[in-house]
Formats: sequence, structure tokens, C-alpha cells
Amino acid sequence: MTLKEEIQKRRTFAIIAHPDAGKTTLTEKLLLFGGAIQTAGAVKSNKIDTATKSDWMEIEKQRGISVATSVMGFEYKDIKINLLDTPGHQDFAEDTYRTLTAVDSVIMVIDCVKGVEIQTEKLMEVCRMRNTPVICFINKLDREGRDPYDLLDEVETKLGISVRPLSWPIGMGKGFKGVYNLYDQQLNLFTPSQRKLSDDRQVFENLDDPQLDGLIGPGNAKQLREDVDLIEGVYPDFDVNEYLEGKIAPVFFGSAVNNFGVNEMLDTFIKIAPAPKSRETDVREVKPEESKFSGFIFKIHANMDPNHRNRIAFLRICSGKFERNKPYNHVHGAKPLRFSNVTQFMAQDKEIIDEAFPGDIVGLYDTGNLKIGDTLTDGENMVFTGIPSFSPEIFREVVNKDAMKTKQLEKGLKQLMEEGVAQLFTFDIGSRKVVGTVGQLQFEVIQFRLKNEYNATAEFHPMNLYKACWISSKDKKQLDEFVRSKNRYIARDKDDKLVFMAESKSWLQMVQDNYPDIEFHFTSEF
Ligand code: GDP
Repeated sequence: MTLKEEIQKRRTFAIIAHPDAGKTTLTEKLLLFGGAIQTAGAVKSNKIDTATKSDWMEIEKQRGISVATSVMGFEYKDIKINLLDTPGHQDFAEDTYRTLTAVDSVIMVIDCVKGVEIQTEKLMEVCRMRNTPVICFINKLDREGRDPYDLLDEVETKLGISVRPLSWPIGMGKGFKGVYNLYDQQLNLFTPSQRKLSDDRQVFENLDDPQLDGLIGPGNAKQLREDVDLIEGVYPDFDVNEYLEGKIAPVFFGSAVNNFGVNEMLDTFIKIAPAPKSRETDVREVKPEESKFSGFIFKIHANMDPNHRNRIAFLRICSGKFERNKPYNHVHGAKPLRFSNVTQFMAQDKEIIDEAFPGDIVGLYDTGNLKIGDTLTDGENMVFTGIPSFSPEIFREVVNKDAMKTKQLEKGLKQLMEEGVAQLFTFDIGSRKVVGTVGQLQFEVIQFRLKNEYNATAEFHPMNLYKACWISSKDKKQLDEFVRSKNRYIARDKDDKLVFMAESKSWLQMVQDNYPDIEFHFTSEF
């Protein structure tokens, strides 16, 4: 197969959802349809259930699951699908944001009872930053959910994206009869079943056909005819280019646990979802069909065995062919790197592979050379952009509790930060170290892993900080002056970039007003 054919064959995506909307269930059904797994229950939820079990156990369990499910590859109708897993717990949202930089599109799951929830809103913001194409799956139609029109309105207003239903539900909850596929003009009747895999579909080019009344009852038939008229009247025809530009989200209705509507969505997905696209670097745009390899690291997993420092770095291939044992340029690194142990993840299995293509995700065994955001190329010095750190929400000062283990603590912190567990800021004055996270749970993870893997004891003391803002200015003199006068609040991030640590929102506003020549940024990339 030519490189171009390999690229056209691939679809790399993630499922995003608020916890409990049905991401794990949908993932499993997709794998079943793809023939990648044979039985339901094979995909483990990566949710952390802190309320019921010991946190440590749960965190370790979660780490195990997240390695196993990081990428689930499978083939469906000659298309190679790479499904990237995203952590379920909101405290690991940053990990999800980064995973979204490695995909070409997403499927968003919404619970028809709960509607658009907060985590979905946050994830959608990240998709919008990159204009990622989104397909929306409204789930749990076997329950008494909200009115479908309301749900669509809510998606549009809360998520800021236009929608175009491609299927329409007939009834809901106990009265759920099925969906009508507006795209293929097929009626898909619902029979609750967690086992059955194929949908029974009937073509109905003309909904006035009296047979429809017999199949779903006269009341439902009348309602469906009205709904379809309304939808076709209100919504413009579905334009696949608008979807590809991230402007419009096609919507499907179904019930993942009952295998209903999933097949339908998957068939449309492989037709419309984008194959790997060009990506920006600091130098130029890189096309996937370029013959020279390039890619970036978006995720790092430490080995679960504390006696081994090996890590798995996840590489997204952006162009050319990646080959095992070939030396590649580690941009920003000291020396070229070659990888003899290259893993590809296929559903529940992993295998060592010799080559991989744009859109593929491979796991590289690494002894500490790679960090998140690193670019690997076949020669050229360029760095993929669009993998920023976001300003954290919670800050704690790191306090060393074992002076004999200072080195271990520093090493542990450095490695955990490279893995992207949290962000470390070091104040200019007194070298005080502050860890910033998006959630409470990360501090527990860090503390536990520092002890368990590095034998270092650290405590985290609360700090009164509102935001870490990366600062820059066109006027170097002004910037120097700012850093001098605000030196108590100046810190450096892991790349030694200047960061202003603001204590409160109002104070930050005041400082911004007082220093119009200084730019304050809420992500590390500007
Ligand atoms: P996740 O947190 O998004 O991964 O959600 P899960 O896939 O674990 O699903 C959460 C719960 O919703 C589980 O108990 C599922 O069995 C249930 N669930 C998933 N899909 C459906 C559905 O279509 N109908 C109903 N009634 N329940 C569902």
C-alpha cells in the first residue's frame, strides 16, 4: 500500500463525555462491532471511584487501566480506527486536553436525561480551540429523557456549536420505538438487547407509506412525519465540509448499552470523519503524506513497577513512515534517539511493530529522554505546536519532609512533571517549589508516587494563589522592569518560561491595567 493509501485508511479519534454518560459502554460496543473483542464487559471503566474505595488502590488501578486502554486500535470495513482513551475523572482533565491534541476528530456522548454537563462543556472548549470535528451521540434513549429539541438547543447554546440531527428518535423511555435515519432514510426499530449486534433497518423513502403506521403505531407515525418535516425545514442540509471545519456537529440518537444506534453512527463515522490532516509546527505546516517521518509525544506513562524506571511515551505520527530502530532527531534533545521496542495497541492486545503511519499512536519505551510535547523528526528541526499547558486551578507548595532525600524528591518531581501529572513552578526568590493541578486528586497521586517510587516524603501546603500567567512583552526593558518590581511573584515553569503568580482575580486585573505593555497568557503557548 502507498503512504497515501495508508493515511486515507486511518481515523484517529477520542470519545468525550461527562462521567456516566456512557463512554465506556460506547467504546466497548465500537470494539464489538469492529470485531476487536468478542464479549461485553471486556473494557474496564477508567473512572476513579473515590467515594467508595481506598484512594491509593483506585489510583493504581486506574493507572493500570489507563496503560491498557490508552489506545484501542481496530479495523472496521477496511478502515483502521485508532480510538484514544481519555481519563474519566475530571481531576485528570489536563491529560484529556492533551489527548485531544493527538486526535483528528471526536465523538461526544450526551446522556439524554442529564443533557449537557459541565465536563462536556470544558472538553468542547478544547475542541473548539482546534476546530476539531465533532459527532454527537445522544445516549440512553431507553430512559425517560428530555425532549430531543431541547437537548439539541442545549448543545447549541452551551457548547457553542451548530447541530444537524442525522437520526431522529421515535418515542423515549418505555415508549422508545427506534430511530429514523434522516441521512439514509431508514427506519431502525428498537428491540432492547445487550447482546444482539446487528440493527434491523428498513428503508422508508416515503414516510407517508401506511406500513409505517403498522410498524410503530399511528400516533408515533404521525409524530415522526411531523418531526421530520420540521427538521428538514429548520435545519439546512448536512454539509460534510462544515462538519470537517468543526462548525456543525451531526447528531445521532441511541442506546449504547442496548447496541442501538451505535452501528449506524459508526457507519457514518467512517464515511465522514477525517483521515489524518496537516499539522502546524513552529516553522511550517507538515502534511501527512510527506515522505519524512515526524510526530510528537502527547502522553507518558511511568512503569507500574517501581524497580524499573522505564516509561512508555505515546507518539502520534504526523507524517511519513515511522520505523523501528531508525535513529530520529529528538528536537530539543541532546542526541538522536532510536527505538527498538515499539508497541502498537490493538484493542486488548499489544504487539511489537516495525513501522507505523500518520494517525497511528505507538508506545515507545523510554528511559527518561522524552517529555510531553517533544517532537521527533527524520532530520528537520521543528516543533509541533498546539500542545500547551493550561494554567492550573489549585496550587500547593512542596515541602520536603526528609532532608536526607532531597535528591530523590527533586528527581521524582521532575519525572512526574514530565509525565504531565501536574505542573511545577519554581519561584525566583528562595527557589520555593509550587505544584499546580486541575484537581485535588493529583496531590494525592503525587505524594503517593513520590513515596512509593522515589522514596521521598513531601507534604503539600495550601497556597493562596489564583492563577499562573505566562508573561511576555514586545518591550524587553518593560518585561525586565516588571520582573524586578514584582519579583516576589515571579516563577519559572519547567521550560524556564517566566510566570506571574497572581494571588487573586481582582489583583491580577489591577496589575494588568497597570502594565499595559505586559501580556498575560493562560496557556503556555502564545
Ligand atoms: P462513562 O462514565 O461515560 O464511561 O459511563 P459508562 O459507560 O460506565 O456508563 C455509565 C452507566 O450508564 C452504566 O451503568 C451503564 O450501564 C449505563 N448506560 C450506558 N449506556 C446506557 C443506555 O443506553 N441506557 C441505559 N439505561 N443505561 C446506559
